[in-house]
Amino acid sequence: MKIGLVTYTPEKVEGFDLHVYYARWADGQAFPAARNMQNDVTCFCDAKAIREDPNLVAVSKNGPALRKNRKINLPFDFVCPTNPEYRAKVLDYVEGLGREQIQGVTLNLYHFPEEEFCVCPRCVELWRQSGRNWTDWRAQEITAFLKEAKRLVKGTFAVEMFPDPVLAKERFGIDFERIAELVDYFHVPLSSRDYLTNYWVDLLARDFLKVLKKPVVVELSAEMLTDQKTDALLKTVAYLSRHNLIGVLLLVHNSENARQVCKYAVNNGAFREWLRKYEFAEMTQIVDEWAKLY
Ligand SMILES: [Zn+2]
Repeated sequence: MKIGLVTYTPEKVEGFDLHVYYARWADGQAFPAARNMQNDVTCFCDAKAIREDPNLVAVSKNGPALRKNRKINLPFDFVCPTNPEYRAKVLDYVEGLGREQIQGVTLNLYHFPEEEFCVCPRCVELWRQSGRNWTDWRAQEITAFLKEAKRLVKGTFAVEMFPDPVLAKERFGIDFERIAELVDYFHVPLSSRDYLTNYWVDLLARDFLKVLKKPVVVELSAEMLTDQKTDALLKTVAYLSRHNLIGVLLLVHNSENARQVCKYAVNNGAFREWLRKYEFAEMTQIVDEWAKLY
């Protein structure tokens, strides 16, 4: 199993095999491509663009897809995915990344915010014209967007998803069967403040491995670490290493944050003994490699 990073800084860190850089964020910031890295692009969450033009937002009978709308529970502010100008803006950005020496592109938040979105006049008209049911029409829109994006991507093409293996199509328009035909792998983010309770990580990793017809990487959060949280995080990675994943990605603020995780593992004799005792061979190998560097 490979070990990797998802970072907000465009630099690789020694001891990690996979390097994902957040190039375009949900707050609307977009950065130049990170060379020789997988560039992660947020598509339809853009708080800045919605502030500047409120007509961009996706809408439902419970109101707009905004964090401040407490009738719904959304983590970001969502643009309507059928807006042609906004789609063109995202695709232009993806095309621009392809002019640089990048490893590839991962798309993130390229879908509808929830099942009841979007009922703007344009979406309702497109749905009527399609002759399909609501779920199929929404999935077809999202798959079509991903097909367009794929044509512009240079290198490895991957997608993230909201981690719901069962209702993704109904809720978000994410059709895993169709998308598997387009991507090189799936990137499953299982974000949390800590992994002191971790049964759900194992559960979702198993479910996604069963459902997704392409290789899978799982992302865990490693940003806010105490010794206790780092220990729980590393043991969760160890359990994930027993599944057939390409790798596990750790989300960190920066390279120093990543090195802290490595140093904690290397210098923690009890953890390394725990890995040996319970025969986590792949994780032992990763920590042994870190021990040569840190
Ligand atoms: Zn719409």
